[in-house]
Amino acid sequence: MTIVDVRTPDPKKFIKGATGDWEIVIGMEVHAQVTSEAKLFSGASTEFGKDPNDNVSLVDAAMPGMLPVINEECVRQAIRTGLGLKAQINLKSVFDRKNYFYPDLPQGYQISQFKQPIVGEGKILLDMPDEQVEIGVERLHLEQDAGKSLHDQHPTMSFVDLNRSGVALMEIVSKPDLRSSDEAKAYLTKLRTILRYLGTCDGNMDQGSMRADVNVSVRRPGGEFGTRCEIKNVNSIRFVGQAIEYEARRQVAILEDGGSIDQETRLFDAVKGETRSMRSKEEAHDYRYFPDPDLLPLEFTQEFVDELAQHLPELPDDKKNRFMSDYGLTAYDAEILIAEKVSADFFEEVAKGRDAKLAANWVINELFGRLNKEGKDLSNSPVSAAQLGGIVDLIKDGVISGKIAKDLFEIVWTEGGDPAQIVEERGMKQVTDLGAIEAIVDEIIAANPDKVQQAIAKPGLLGWFVGQVMKQSQGKANPQAVSDMLKQKIGLE
Ligand code: ADP
Ligand code: MG
Repeated sequence: MTIVDVRTPDPKKFIKGATGDWEIVIGMEVHAQVTSEAKLFSGASTEFGKDPNDNVSLVDAAMPGMLPVINEECVRQAIRTGLGLKAQINLKSVFDRKNYFYPDLPQGYQISQFKQPIVGEGKILLDMPDEQVEIGVERLHLEQDAGKSLHDQHPTMSFVDLNRSGVALMEIVSKPDLRSSDEAKAYLTKLRTILRYLGTCDGNMDQGSMRADVNVSVRRPGGEFGTRCEIKNVNSIRFVGQAIEYEARRQVAILEDGGSIDQETRLFDAVKGETRSMRSKEEAHDYRYFPDPDLLPLEFTQEFVDELAQHLPELPDDKKNRFMSDYGLTAYDAEILIAEKVSADFFEEVAKGRDAKLAANWVINELFGRLNKEGKDLSNSPVSAAQLGGIVDLIKDGVISGKIAKDLFEIVWTEGGDPAQIVEERGMKQVTDLGAIEAIVDEIIAANPDKVQQAIAKPGLLGWFVGQVMKQSQGKANPQAVSDMLKQKIGLE
């Protein structure tokens, strides 16, 4: 493939070497396990966490004479994913055999797609802090996963578990358009969000249902692409960032020393935080790819694709735009809320019929902040959308002040209950009774004649008076009413 460089070199991302600047170039190959009850070419279950070899059909164990039969659901999921990546959907694609030996690959080959994948070029939009970046997707193809080898402690014995053998994977290959570890992490995060919205992969990297191979090279800014190393199977987004930082610096050191980079496959050692050589990189022709004679080309109609397109859920970018235009949220707040579909749904439940900005503020700053602090998430949140909505209503209606609302949130968080009822029972209502406020205002003014004089010269001091009155009222006075009354009494109007 000829690579077109679509990026303008950005000095902020350069690595400073002893002999000048270097630019990092990154391309990702992500293996995403397809959400489907059965495997790609057999009816065996894909359920995670079963005993070894519970989910194995004769096809997955590669018994002679068994024939693969394509699982239509996996095809649908791959097409839906392609649509979510705004990609070209190929109405005809071909399954090939990729031949290699591995103890957990009883067939002696993996059924994959090589020259004619089911999905062609697409794109993923990244919202970086100070720019929007479009990353090209080269292709998405369907393939089988391999089994797992298990080595016992000593090691005196090895075992093969074929539960994963034959499970459908989507390999999603990016163009080498990424230029920093931050962009690479944002790419994986965004891809995972899209897959989760679509329900085509659960995106759980710690369970191995999403795995990233990271290709890294360095070059002089804007120059020829360098030789890349591929870091295999990095299993968390944070590790992807660390692996890139380490690998790019390793390559820069070699090049500045007058050496050259060997194209090789490396692995990331998370404990040491470094990459290590695994093997020299194999070329495509080493695999002796050829069309699988047991399978016909995969063909479907444009109507089949259109039908799937019509039932696609709202995607993260669209949701973000809608949150900004319909609710008036900032890009920053919208981005936080749409990161997970459950948080977007939760927000919409709180915001329904209410002041959306106030709702977003309480969801993000109070609730998410607290959940984060206590290592919880929405699935085990002590405060429900209805309860948070109740708090927002009480603030909006002027029943409680923002300060009291924080106390109320604390009570709802620890004890539960209906916010309105708690406010009623515990006398937390904001004092809007002007007579009661006036008594306190007069008292504070009388006690601080010199400050009153200063405030007349410097109206900024009004805040101090408001603070005193609020303190005296134990936070229950309506701050607006207090401020209005103080202005009038001190003569600032
Ligand atoms: P394979 O790894 O199977 O040989 P490709 O050659 O298509 O496959 O490339 C795999 C990945 O490597 C892609 O994500 C691509 O963007 C990336 N890539 C290609 N050239 C470079 C490069 N010079 N530096 C960094 N990544 C690269
Ligand atoms: Mg590769």
